[in-house]
Amino acid sequence: MNDVSDAFMISKLLLVEDNESNRDMLSRRLVRRGFEVVTAADGESAIRIIREAKPDLVLMDMSLPGINGWDATRIIKSSSETSAIPVVALTAHAMTSDREEAFAAGCNGFETKPIEMDKLLATIDGLLARKRGPNADA
Ligand code: MN
Repeated sequence: MNDVSDAFMISKLLLVEDNESNRDMLSRRLVRRGFEVVTAADGESAIRIIREAKPDLVLMDMSLPGINGWDATRIIKSSSETSAIPVVALTAHAMTSDREEAFAAGCNGFETKPIEMDKLLATIDGLLARKRGPNADA
């Protein structure tokens, strides 16, 4: 039983989405793919959960009531405690400026709604692999 734990490691995702039906649907689909999923419906709870539960990756709806996804990402990325957690922006806007704005806020990935599950899973896998990789601290 050498290092098998890593192969069976379940990644914990935080899904931040204020739309209840979108949140429930995407959450169920991610659980079905083997992820542990915690959810938040606004930016304030997202920041609190990220600090407390230290998820492996965050899926961040950018359009949120109160602290929006851009500001929540800036806050997460400005703290050394949480800055290494990858954030994937989820937005209904596919414009280049939205993408650039998301990356400027510190997002590590960008997916447009409606979410294409295969594309999202590839983005998640890529970011989690990079985080676990030998150059994770680089
Ligand atoms: Mn929203």
